[in-house]
Amino acid sequence: MDGKMTTGTEIQNNKLPAVVIVGAGFGGLKAARLLGKAPVRVILLDKRNYHLFQPLLYQIATAGISPGEIAHPVRGILGRQKNFQFHLAELQQFDLDHRRVITSAGSFDYDYLVIALGAETNHFGIESVRRYALDMKDLDDAIDIRNKVLCSFELADQESDPARRRELLTFVVVGGGPTGVETAGALSELIRLVLVKDYPALDLNEVRILLLEASDQILAGFPTHLREKAVKTLERKYVEVRCKTAVQGFDGRTVILENAEPIQSRTMIWAAGVRAASLLDRSGLQQGRQGRLVVSPTLQLEQHPEVFVIGDAAYLEVDGQPLQMMATVAMQQGAFVAENIRRLVQNKPLQNFRYKDPGALATIGRNQAVIRIGRLSFSGFIAWLIWVVLHIYRLIGFRSRFLVLINWIWDYFMYERGIRLITPYGKRCQEGSGENQQGDLRYSSQS
Ligand SMILES: Cc1cc2nc3c(=O)[nH]c(=O)nc-3n(C[C@H](O)[C@H](O)[C@H](O)COP(=O)(O)OP(=O)(O)OC[C@H]3O[C@@H](n4cnc5c(N)ncnc54)[C@H](O)[C@@H]3O)c2cc1C
Repeated sequence: MDGKMTTGTEIQNNKLPAVVIVGAGFGGLKAARLLGKAPVRVILLDKRNYHLFQPLLYQIATAGISPGEIAHPVRGILGRQKNFQFHLAELQQFDLDHRRVITSAGSFDYDYLVIALGAETNHFGIESVRRYALDMKDLDDAIDIRNKVLCSFELADQESDPARRRELLTFVVVGGGPTGVETAGALSELIRLVLVKDYPALDLNEVRILLLEASDQILAGFPTHLREKAVKTLERKYVEVRCKTAVQGFDGRTVILENAEPIQSRTMIWAAGVRAASLLDRSGLQQGRQGRLVVSPTLQLEQHPEVFVIGDAAYLEVDGQPLQMMATVAMQQGAFVAENIRRLVQNKPLQNFRYKDPGALATIGRNQAVIRIGRLSFSGFIAWLIWVVLHIYRLIGFRSRFLVLINWIWDYFMYERGIRLITPYGKRCQEGSGENQQGDLRYSSQS
């Protein structure tokens, strides 16, 4: 149990047990921070050098805030912690028998491992959606959506054929959870309050925003009156909400639906679901729904008690229901695992995880949000103010909080969205970067 790292760099105080945490998201970061004073070495690995506040991704997609306001370099957050090291490294494989993880930056030995790999977009096996739709999971995804929406307006402004123009101005958001609802609401405000001024030659009646949900309701998990309120608010913002509408495919121009007429659209934003990182499929470990790793109530792997799994990567049922894939769950589990590792090191008995549900909230644009806290549930301006304060508070660092607050106040009073940038340099509108990896349909106006 020497916890040595085989990539070269010697870690200070090599005799202390090594806790390797893979994933600097909500769960991993919390665990690393709370192990700050524990008698262990903390080695945090992530494939990107920043922590991302995903709940505000949709604001980047709709030109409200800049990437730097919700993404923070991990070294900047925890760099001063004495027992801490960060490595930019993509996990490739587990070697649980030898207590080692293999990464793009070499292999790391551990005494304790925390798997906090989060989730990835779930396209539910629909290959055409994976190729042509825009995801909402990482910074690049959100910037891609912003580019696509703004390019669509530029192209529509130059388009003389009405059918093509309508196609360019039809935006389909798939998934009626909080992310889909927030995106559809914010997109409508971007278009109707801001872009309308930028493109005076375009007719707003040609713009369509559709929110498609496969089940019979949006915002599952919220009380009925709040779901109905959310639908009404979206409709007031000219968002067409269609439940029981399952997407079967999308070729970059036509959305194929299970039981309805196809929709002509160049833009599909896929917010229909996530699943645990697909790397876990190759781990040989027991998986629950959405590919998450089944853990005991102490958040350990049954066969490997030195391995903990937290956040979106972990599958734990409480009262017969799996814990949701939410930041609040991940953060509580990160804190909990730090405490359990401390106990292990001190030979104390471990505790079982209990989730304290802080409630749920979603905003539907200016002055409108829905909130459930325990038995209390309400909507409207007060709910929206609570949403604003909570999101500002949860952001990392004073600078981000200050900048986001100033941005929001400015946009609120001036009806503005300052980050209406097509990057890089708008070239993509003409060249078209096409399918998610190769083709040429995503940005071009021609078929
Ligand atoms: C658009 C959006 C909006 C959301 N809104 C809310 C909300 O309002 N409220 C809420 O509670 N939850 C929300 N969520 C869910 C919430 O973001 C997740 O539940 C939470 O991030 C899970 O935390 P985690 O630590 O498990 O994973 P994450 O925070 O996703 O972190 C995983 C980390 O692992 C890293 N990683 C992945 N694979 C590898 C690899 N192979 N090698 C190295 N590193 C790797 C990633 O780079 C990432 O840093 C939202 C999610 C999205 C996508």
